[in-house]
Amino acid sequence: MIDTAYREYVGSPHVHSVYSDGSGSYRTIAAAANAAQLNFVIVTDHNVRPQGLEGYVGQTLMLSGEEVHNVRRDPQANHLLVYGAEHEMAPYSFGSTQTLIRAARERDGICYIAHPIERPSAIGTDLAAIPWTQWPPEGIHGLEIWNYMSEFKGLLWNKLVALVYAYRPEWGIRGPYRATLKLWDELLASGHKIAALGGADAHATSYRWGPFRRRVFPYEYLFRAVNTHILTKAPLTGDPVEDKALIYDALRAGRTWVGYDLPHSTRGFRCFARSGSAMAGPGEELRRLGAINLSVTLPTDGEIILRRDGKVIRRTTGTSMKYTSVEAGIYRVEAYRRFRGRKVAWIFASPIYAS
Ligand SMILES: [Zn+2]
Ligand SMILES: [Zn+2]
Repeated sequence: MIDTAYREYVGSPHVHSVYSDGSGSYRTIAAAANAAQLNFVIVTDHNVRPQGLEGYVGQTLMLSGEEVHNVRRDPQANHLLVYGAEHEMAPYSFGSTQTLIRAARERDGICYIAHPIERPSAIGTDLAAIPWTQWPPEGIHGLEIWNYMSEFKGLLWNKLVALVYAYRPEWGIRGPYRATLKLWDELLASGHKIAALGGADAHATSYRWGPFRRRVFPYEYLFRAVNTHILTKAPLTGDPVEDKALIYDALRAGRTWVGYDLPHSTRGFRCFARSGSAMAGPGEELRRLGAINLSVTLPTDGEIILRRDGKVIRRTTGTSMKYTSVEAGIYRVEAYRRFRGRKVAWIFASPIYAS
């Protein structure tokens, strides 16, 4: 049941710091997040969860999650984002992925599969694809359907192209891979509840190509691009412990959407379904009492696509959509808009499960 007490907050849930292979300290990352007006950042360093660094810096709550994977595996695969386990999960990375997920869940961890499908870059062996290979995973909360730096890596098919996109990434970035969205719908069809996560995978690494030196990309730039918007059950209070619980509760329940905030902020997007006196939003279940009335509102013009069980059932252009149906199913909303002369992906909401 969604009610008007829900509040929207915006964050970046996949970020690397100097504790692994990122270039920035927590302080640097927090300053960038403040500039981009993010409400929260979850730093997810590779196989390490530093202690004692959580808390508010300005308006941004800095949290420590972890990106866990078996470093001995070659080639690399199966990166798992874990939030809220409050334990170092790296020791569990050497068994099966299912063992890791189970260990995280036993510690109340929230598990999202990072970059489930990746394309390699042709320009370097250190830019190989790192997909998820163990399907279907039991016990995950969701998929990182859109990973900005992962998509960027897949664009780099030669050094000249890499140089162009290093300066003009918005010419290349288009949206989640079709294969990832298909995979998401297949998992949903097989009975898994799967929420959508969008991450920057920010490292802010500097590269040199001959005379060119470029940070790809600064944290602040990435924090204005692909973010995860969440709906919390109460307003954030400024207390780091209470607010962390509210944020993790939303990620656990899957009350999320992925927003590409660069073309236009996706703050204010709303999507819900009513049936009789029942009401549900992204990530929630709706028990039908007769017809279902779906309502979608965009913060500005775009193309809205409504899917039921993976199939497009309505497509419209504008700032809103209404749709009535009597059918049970898994309803989810996507939105697209024009940016720099091209159509780009903009919003992907977690499903509403109507039974
Ligand atoms: Zn990764
Ligand atoms: Zn990462």
